[in-house]
Amino acid sequence: MIKTVKMYGCECDSCGEKWIDEHQGFAAFTDKSSMKEVIEEDSAWETIADMEGEDFHFCSNCFRYYDDEDRPIFSQTANMPNKMQIAEFIKI
Ligand SMILES: [Zn+2]
Repeated sequence: MIKTVKMYGCECDSCGEKWIDEHQGFAAFTDKSSMKEVIEEDSAWETIADMEGEDFHFCSNCFRYYDDEDRPIFSQTANMPNKMQIAEFIKI
């Protein structure tokens, strides 16, 4: 039987780019916790929890690095999600 299955993928909260496994080509999991685990381990993506504890995900085109004071540095073209409650961020 072929049927519809609910899947969990991830897209950048800034630009909307969809995550894809570069080696195997798949882009989603059947359970949310696996997607969460994989995106947190992917060095090309950054997961940032805001002050409310909600996770936001950014691709390497949008997130750059953390500075010496642990502030997230984003690219100049990054669009910060409106609902993201973050104390301070910098664009370069
Ligand atoms: Zn992005």
